[in-house]
Amino acid sequence: MAATASVGRASALEPYDGVRPDAAWREEVLRLAERRNAVILAHNYQLPEIQDIAHHTGDSLALSRIAADSDADTIVFCGVHFMAETAKILSPTKTVLIPDERAGCSLADSITAEDLRAWKAEHPGAVVVSYVNTTAEVKAETDVCCTSSNAVDVVRSIPADREVLFCPDQFLGAHVKRETGRENLHVWAGECHVHAGINGPELAEKAAANPDADLFIHPECGCATSALYLAGEGTVPQDRVKILSTGDMVKAARGTSARTVLVATEVGMLHQLRRAAPEIDFRAVNDRAACRYMKMITPAALLRALREGRDEVHVDPDVAERARGAVQRMIAIGQPGGGE
Ligand code: SF4
Repeated sequence: MAATASVGRASALEPYDGVRPDAAWREEVLRLAERRNAVILAHNYQLPEIQDIAHHTGDSLALSRIAADSDADTIVFCGVHFMAETAKILSPTKTVLIPDERAGCSLADSITAEDLRAWKAEHPGAVVVSYVNTTAEVKAETDVCCTSSNAVDVVRSIPADREVLFCPDQFLGAHVKRETGRENLHVWAGECHVHAGINGPELAEKAAANPDADLFIHPECGCATSALYLAGEGTVPQDRVKILSTGDMVKAARGTSARTVLVATEVGMLHQLRRAAPEIDFRAVNDRAACRYMKMITPAALLRALREGRDEVHVDPDVAERARGAVQRMIAIGQPGGGE
């Protein structure tokens, strides 16, 4: 967490694990990537240096699509484990590496396949909708996955008389329940630990202190679903709230007349926004809202991944086969937020 304070701002020569992300590091990373015919993908919440060296930066779904379409032999996924697994599910013949396999996700860990099987047994015939922040095993028990941008559409596509089990994010589940007015939707009580940094009073206080500021919510990761819920509740004025995918957030940053924008999501997103619109004052709703798992992907870890070909991500082929349908249905039901 030592790097947290500088996330979102250029920290060009700060050493991580003894490795400085300098010109020699960049050259070596790109040389090794070329030698492996590897594509480097970075999630928006990665350290700035990792975002800057990646071939593509975006949210998990966008990156998985890029991975599936790429003709690279190896995908180096700079993000958390469930994201790399999703890339492997969609691209089973490619080698998928994550620079540090300990990069998990507290939200994905809040439900296991066993938990889900037991829940399904209590609600026979229910349709299971899982947020993309889940393990491959949970996806294999799922009928359709969703992102926070298309969760409402996914649930609306299910016949009204069918029970729905929604997991694992309780904030996204509550938002979907409110939007659809659906009484037969049951919500798992999971959450992301970064949520705690984006709470209602803080959001309302920041909005009141910056009356001319826009509020951007990027809902693609569990950390911002509490803000999504609070905005829907009227905690901040609706006309200032913009719920946007990555690409639309960057476009909105270039198009807004606001001089200040409050950003309710993991602080790594600030780096992309400041690059896109340096004249705007982007402020985190909470600058401690950093995901410790995302920050495990350091320049040293990326270099090691490319040098040593680790950590490789494996998904059992039967599990991947069962999970693939749920992921593909998610992709079919609407582009998240109109694209990244
Ligand atoms: S920010 Fe939260 S939901 Fe996103 S990877 Fe980290 S722990 Fe998981």
